[in-house]
Amino acid sequence: MTETTPTASFADLGLSEELLAAVAASGYTTPTPIQAQAIPVVLMGRDVLGCAQTGTGKTASFTLPMIEILAAGRAKARMPRSLILAPTRELAAQVADNFDKYGKNHKLNKALIIGGESMSDQVAILDRGVDVLIATPGRLLDMFERGRILLTDVKVLVIDEADRMLDMGFIPDVERIVSLLPKIRQTLFFSATLGPEIRRLADAFLMNPKEITASAPSSAATTIEQNLAVVEEIDKRETLRHLIRIEEVKNAFIFCNRKRDVDVLFRSLKKHHFDVVQLHGDMAQPARQEALGKFKSGEARLLVCSDVAARGIDIKAVSHVFNFDVPIHAEDYVHRIGRTGRAGETGRAFTIATPDDGRFVVAIEKLLGGEIARIEVEGVPALALDLDSRKRGRGGRSAKGEDRERSGGRSRSREGSSERPERAPREPRPEREPRAEREARPEREPRAEREARPERAPRPEREARPEREARPERAPRPEREARPEREARPEREARPERGRDERGGRGRERRRRFDEFGIGEMNHRDDAIGFGEFLPDFMARAVPLPKPRTKAELKAEAEAEGETED
Ligand code: AMP
Repeated sequence: MTETTPTASFADLGLSEELLAAVAASGYTTPTPIQAQAIPVVLMGRDVLGCAQTGTGKTASFTLPMIEILAAGRAKARMPRSLILAPTRELAAQVADNFDKYGKNHKLNKALIIGGESMSDQVAILDRGVDVLIATPGRLLDMFERGRILLTDVKVLVIDEADRMLDMGFIPDVERIVSLLPKIRQTLFFSATLGPEIRRLADAFLMNPKEITASAPSSAATTIEQNLAVVEEIDKRETLRHLIRIEEVKNAFIFCNRKRDVDVLFRSLKKHHFDVVQLHGDMAQPARQEALGKFKSGEARLLVCSDVAARGIDIKAVSHVFNFDVPIHAEDYVHRIGRTGRAGETGRAFTIATPDDGRFVVAIEKLLGGEIARIEVEGVPALALDLDSRKRGRGGRSAKGEDRERSGGRSRSREGSSERPERAPREPRPEREPRAEREARPEREPRAEREARPERAPRPEREARPEREARPERAPRPEREARPEREARPEREARPERGRDERGGRGRERRRRFDEFGIGEMNHRDDAIGFGEFLPDFMARAVPLPKPRTKAELKAEAEAEGETED
């Protein structure tokens, strides 16, 4: 933790004795700026728009006052009292850990609803009633759609890392979730950046918020020594191995732009006997947790990862960051290297570029406001960046010759084929973890299981119309089917004006025509016994009847035809 506010103390912020004890037990003596500003505001019940990133102490800035608020009251089954949305499983799990740490003197129940874990276990916890629900948007919606959860009792909503949610394509899910919450609630919205789109969301979700900004925990330039090697694509792995060997690497994040490359590089490093684990969005949750656990505990020294998976992971004292790929978005470079050099310690960052990465390196250096030091790696030919290159879609062939595609789904040859169009400036992001997360929802796939859901399958409105189902004359009527001449009438089929009524029959239309002809009730199906609802047209036609003849007229007619009455 780098920034604290020496003038404030936790005791001044309005937290209870139990919370102060938990804070002290965590080893914190002074609140960070965002904590000092946010905690009193949240305790007052006000909405917060927090511009802060991981490392500023923002998690405690909302969990501590939330625990205070939730201490009074009880949760009902399936109706959480507060909801925290986080973009990744790791981040959600980290927030859940914070709740355990700060809430240890309270009896609050929490549930962590994230993809890749047993849904039935999560449902069981929800059924017992939870005070705090911490979730990734995809799994939460899934739960909701299955009728496992009701969001109408949520009094406090936290949206954490909103900018990341935006990057990951989660905003529609978040908007839908927010639409399911009560309008009257307290909302705490955190984002590392406050671009126009984030502002739009904040305007939509928040009511008269207090805006709080906490600057980044460290200025990359001051505590991190940055280096860049430009080599041929095929030499990247050798370059990395060499750097790991010559540097005193205590522990290191190694970033790749794509999930698939994470796995390839992980296997390669393992083959070369490096102490390595991997982390990316396509891994099953237990494997992700195991990898993270090993890296956090120091059992594994190297973590090969994607941006999304590593986002927000709170690991202190990381000695090195290696960018095996130059990030496509300059700000990702800052996030990546910010994993090291935290809390005033020095860190070292190495980026391995190919000549085609020229534009991207230029963008990063522009953002940093200075050039990254170029280095040469022994035994590997050093190259120059191609600053005019418009052909980088990256990927290319790995040392083994596999075709690789970049995040934009394009591929290129090792030489950097020129048929690739230029990359779009912002989208798509290097990793689409939400997709993976959604795809990883095994519970959603089996159709039978979905249909078996008692809450969804029997539609209430259908149940509410038993009399329709029961009507004998409306059930499939064999005698109707048996009347071929009705079906076959060409003129009936040809009449375009005839519509079917909403019940799928022609009864209403026919009755309308009856009324038109002035026949009215006479020919209503109820009066024409034996025809059911569908009275043949000829019976409904208005036929002008001859004037009734008198007895004398009939006699005269008979005589004229030679017939006589007895
Ligand atoms: P966060 O920004 O919430 O991810 O927190 C970053 C790190 O700072 C976590 O390891 C916290 O445990 C730690 N931290 C949070 N608040 C404080 C504090 N007041 N003093 C010292 N460390 C803190």
